[in-house]
Amino acid sequence: MDIFDFHVHVGEGLHKSLSPERLIKLMDKYHVEKCVICPVDEFISVSNGKGNDYIVKVVKKYQGRFYGFAVSNPWFGKEGVDELRKALDKGLAGFKINSVLQGFMLCDYILDPLLELVSEYKVPVYAHTGTMGNALPFQLLELAERHSNINFIMGHMGYSDFWYDVIPVMERAKNIYAETSHAAADSIESLIDKLGINRIVFGSDIPESNLGVEINKLELLNLDKKALESVFSLNAKKLLGERR
Ligand SMILES: [Zn+2]
Repeated sequence: MDIFDFHVHVGEGLHKSLSPERLIKLMDKYHVEKCVICPVDEFISVSNGKGNDYIVKVVKKYQGRFYGFAVSNPWFGKEGVDELRKALDKGLAGFKINSVLQGFMLCDYILDPLLELVSEYKVPVYAHTGTMGNALPFQLLELAERHSNINFIMGHMGYSDFWYDVIPVMERAKNIYAETSHAAADSIESLIDKLGINRIVFGSDIPESNLGVEINKLELLNLDKKALESVFSLNAKKLLGERR
């Protein structure tokens, strides 16, 4: 079964690094057909333009393997909105938020100008959730209710500490999807029991996690083939507007 990985960081950062060449090797090893890639470390927090341009370059170089998500720190104000527009015009396919690295409360109105632009371009938004306390699932709910025409991906499903919040949040906002990296196996099972398999996408968050381990975690859940296919690729393709 071909896999679509919804969350990977590419580039050489101060803390984390993953080259596109190494990523392609890992993808081939684990039958990952496509990935959503975004920048790492300081390129998420401060050097957004450099980070986005690098992602654009990688997407172009490996045609058909990657979708790129743009970053733009809301503290840059109008400059940040211009950067995001530029990145989306260059073909990036979504917007990635990390309120921990970028230093704001996930539900903060400071994001609204960027999200208004995102809704013009009709692309999805991936948001890191979990620790610290400024990236919580209920804060994402506030954002998703305020911007009900945007699809949000709840990165890491509350990063384990906040998994109790995932189901009530997703029950209330139908425009929130869950992404599975770092999430505990039983919290993924509970979510599927309660809400079905249509709003969950597989993600690995490499190089922060291990691609093989993240894939095995889902394979060991006892899902039937159709459910596994939805989580591993169909839901991601739908979110990105890709037809089969
Ligand atoms: Zn990540």
